[in-house]
Amino acid sequence: MEREFRAMGTEWWLRADRASMALMDRAQGLVEMIESRLSRFRPASALSRLNRDRCVEDEMLSAVLLAAEDVRVRTSGAFDARVGSAVVAAGYDRSFEDLGATDAAPSDPRRPEVVVAGASVRLVGEGALDLGGIAKGWTVDRVADLLSASGPCLVDGGGDIAVRGRPRDASEWAIGIGDEQTVGLEHGAVATSSTLHRCWRAGNGVAHHIIDPETGRPAAGLTNTVVIARAAYLADALATALIADMQRALPALREAGAEALVQHSDGRWEMTAGMGRFLR
Ligand code: AMP
Ligand code: MG
Repeated sequence: MEREFRAMGTEWWLRADRASMALMDRAQGLVEMIESRLSRFRPASALSRLNRDRCVEDEMLSAVLLAAEDVRVRTSGAFDARVGSAVVAAGYDRSFEDLGATDAAPSDPRRPEVVVAGASVRLVGEGALDLGGIAKGWTVDRVADLLSASGPCLVDGGGDIAVRGRPRDASEWAIGIGDEQTVGLEHGAVATSSTLHRCWRAGNGVAHHIIDPETGRPAAGLTNTVVIARAAYLADALATALIADMQRALPALREAGAEALVQHSDGRWEMTAGMGRFLR
């Protein structure tokens, strides 16, 4: 069975050959429920309430923030969900579907400290959180947890993908990446990040949505990244981290047993030692 729908500003595609219609309904409902809790574009979401009120009780938000904090430490700060104010300062202040040209704004270095205790989350100091670099992958994992109870499945949330078990008609899933590459995977996750799609005119130049936390401005160097990891939240966050600051992110990939294929802004492709075995 397959299911297609739009959520989190992107196209979702689910495939689980042994799933019932009711299970597919639950999977789609799960994505919509998580979006309503974690989106920074929904004023009533737990994330928006946290950014506004500086404290909130929400089990899901606290789980995602712990995952984000773990990746921040592993990547020596290349991935940092606390760059919310800088993302807005760069011009990404509303849903991408509504974004037009913006004035080039100064960077905004404010970053709050995040204190998590059970389900309760508190922000100390100024600045905002943005889970755009990890929440989609985290959601893909939750949907794969749900669907895999029925058998093998593939969950694709706008290019952040998890697969569990072999498909019925092949020995692995063939996953197209961009126009040029195909990745073969039986169990695990693949995610991509790019500075070329979510970009906009700002002042005299072009801005995009991935911030180098060191400078507080859109990162330079890489335009596209593909990461393969054991879980989609990791692949998602590491693909973002590589664009933010490749040198800081690479040790985290090695430690997590993840592989990557990256494109530099001059067009050159480069990959980690183990990536080749996934390319078809
Ligand atoms: P992705 O499309 O998964 O690469 O995520 C990009 C999104 O992550 C952006 O739209 C921001 O919401 C957020 N973001 C930007 N820079 C960073 C960063 N250095 N660390 C964590 N999240 C970021
Ligand atoms: Mg990402």
